[in-house]
Amino acid sequence: ARVKVISEIEKIMANIEQVRNIGVIAHVDHGKTTTSDTLLAGAGIISERVAGDALLLDYLNVEKEREMTVKAANASLYHEYNGKPYVINLIDTPGHVDFTGMVTRSLRVLDGGIVVVDSAEGVMTQTETVLRQALEERVKPVLFINKVDRLIKELKFGPQQIQERFVEIIKDVNNLIDMYAEPEFKNKWKINPAEGNVAFGSAKDKWALTVPDATKKGITFQNIIDAYSSNNKDKVVELFKKAPIWDALLNMVVKFIPNPKEAQKYRIPKIWKGNLDSDLGKAMMESDPNGPLVFYANAIKVEKAGIVATGRVFSGTLEPGKEVYIVSSDRTGRILQVSLYMGPFRELTAKIPAGNIGALMGIEGLKSGETLVEVSYKSQAAPFEQLHYISEPVVTSAIEPAKLQDLPKMIDALKKLTLEDPNLVVKINEETGEYLISGMGQLHLEIAMWMLKELYGVEVKATPPIVVYRESVKQNSKVFEGKSPNKHNRFYISVEPLNDETIDLIHKGLVNEDQDAKDRAKILRDKANWDYDEARKIWSIDENINIFIDATSGVQYLKEVKDTILGGFRIAVKEGPLAAEPVRGLKVVLHDAEIHEDPVHRGPGQIYPAVRNAIWAAMLTSKPTLLEPIQKLEIKVPMDYLSPVTSIVTKKRGKILDVKQSGLQAIVTAEIPVAESFDISQELRGSTAGKAFWGTEFSRWAPVPDSLLDDLIKKIRERKGLPPRPPKLEDLLGP
Ligand code: GDP
Repeated sequence: ARVKVISEIEKIMANIEQVRNIGVIAHVDHGKTTTSDTLLAGAGIISERVAGDALLLDYLNVEKEREMTVKAANASLYHEYNGKPYVINLIDTPGHVDFTGMVTRSLRVLDGGIVVVDSAEGVMTQTETVLRQALEERVKPVLFINKVDRLIKELKFGPQQIQERFVEIIKDVNNLIDMYAEPEFKNKWKINPAEGNVAFGSAKDKWALTVPDATKKGITFQNIIDAYSSNNKDKVVELFKKAPIWDALLNMVVKFIPNPKEAQKYRIPKIWKGNLDSDLGKAMMESDPNGPLVFYANAIKVEKAGIVATGRVFSGTLEPGKEVYIVSSDRTGRILQVSLYMGPFRELTAKIPAGNIGALMGIEGLKSGETLVEVSYKSQAAPFEQLHYISEPVVTSAIEPAKLQDLPKMIDALKKLTLEDPNLVVKINEETGEYLISGMGQLHLEIAMWMLKELYGVEVKATPPIVVYRESVKQNSKVFEGKSPNKHNRFYISVEPLNDETIDLIHKGLVNEDQDAKDRAKILRDKANWDYDEARKIWSIDENINIFIDATSGVQYLKEVKDTILGGFRIAVKEGPLAAEPVRGLKVVLHDAEIHEDPVHRGPGQIYPAVRNAIWAAMLTSKPTLLEPIQKLEIKVPMDYLSPVTSIVTKKRGKILDVKQSGLQAIVTAEIPVAESFDISQELRGSTAGKAFWGTEFSRWAPVPDSLLDDLIKKIRERKGLPPRPPKLEDLLGP
């Protein structure tokens, strides 16, 4: 055990070449937790026994027992390489896919990732999802091929087959790098076993080797096969003693992952939105500890004493007493305390220089994902590039405390939960006083309830989750005239569906409202088939992916009422005409307008309804539909149970996308509507004698089948207390 005193760690942190910021990324079950815990154990901070036991127990309960966090936090490891000391910050990327938002936030503060792949299963969907996100953030990968014991014990592979399996996995990973890394990184970042950026081994048995290691230590595949084939456990322990996992993995990290200073030079232009020639920009490009402070908070934890924000210092030095500007909420605050990580534990320190990971306290109400900037540089402040969530809140439950007197406690706990996990959305229904909690899947909500109870001591009653829909149209409309109540203002508007390419560009943040209009128009022309001149006329892009275009010419007073017109647009798409669900994927075109010369007659009370009614009338005549969230399911089940699993999926309006065999297991990839997914857990368990394991992930929005549409609209309207039918054209346009 290498127990360090804080002054030693501080000294290393001041020398940025001796720091690395990394995370472990993997498909669920491939060994992320085991690998992280074993590395932590190797650093001597938690005992090896705790690291081993942890795996057998339920993830959440263990986190609670150990009083560590379920969310991305940090652990600092100590490692010596070629006689030189290093601090390696291991940022935890949370385990479950429903938390993808958190994975991405963690990626922002990493420069490198250990990609863990189960050798018996190979590269799987989430390997791809997370590696893609990492590459998009310019996080450099190294590879750990895990569970090599399974190849020997379960699949009875010989040396040749083991070799072939490794080659296959490396090829798959390199294909992903080829697909998702930008041109300047593609070749530099490809994995090459001969160079030593691939390790293979067993996280459970705590050994790992790179190819050069194996040669140097004289260990062959046959030696490994012999160790596992003999019934002598000591043979495996010997393997661990000769090739402990932390040596292989941490050497790989020090050697192949750039230090924070090198990494920030190419990562800042990609992930930060501000001006690179400003003082702030320059300081961040140089990781200058003497420059202005910039801190990105990737994880928030609400503790008794207040909020603890863990994150990365991108420039300047984090110190108590500093006054900072919080970019996205436009306010200031003062840092009270600063701490660094010693293993998994925080200890107070006087300062943390640029490039390092640390935590601060004292700024209440801080949300994860926020950027803090030294207050005197407020004018140059800019947030980090928005994260491109691949998941969206698609289910909602109404909750109330089981004991009425717990209401204030529940409200307080909800506030904390949503600070820690901004992907949970809490709203109050004004009419009923209900608390509505929305998440990215049923499991996401279940975990939130679990945390309310176990971490905050509030037991709640929840209604069964309700699916959140979107409204959209399937064809182009003609032009409709919307009149203001005083008849002095008229707007001529048509709508059409946005094409998939456009929706994708906006979803990924490649096209957004803040962009230069010409740059944006070029992207839309080149990548989504737009007419350049029309694309130049975009006025607004809202968060649910709707676009407003001004195609008028020479309309008097238009500029004066632009914001009011956009207000009407937002009202129209916030709750659509069919069922008051948000509109998605709509292009609204304003062709012409008449606007009253007197501002008194063209206020919001006049213009909002005129614009909204024209948009709604256009929508209602262009094959309006509801979009429902579709979930991707990955189910692992013994081959014998394949057929009940496929029949459950099909019964639930689902589709089997792929069936893969892995040993005696089948891995089924399928899609089903979220609306059909709520009792799937029981059904899968029931019909497979509890032998199925599965994970879910938001996949896409898809139109509700026509045969179900009318009933569904009626049901939603009824639930919301709306009249049973959507408005008619006469209601909107007048006689
Ligand atoms: P995570 O979901 O990626 O965090 O995966 P875990 O670390 O929780 O591991 C999933 C399962 O794989 C657990 O039951 C582990 O004990 C097991 N596991 C981890 N590493 C190995 C290994 O090297 N060999 C084998 N056979 N099982 C392993």
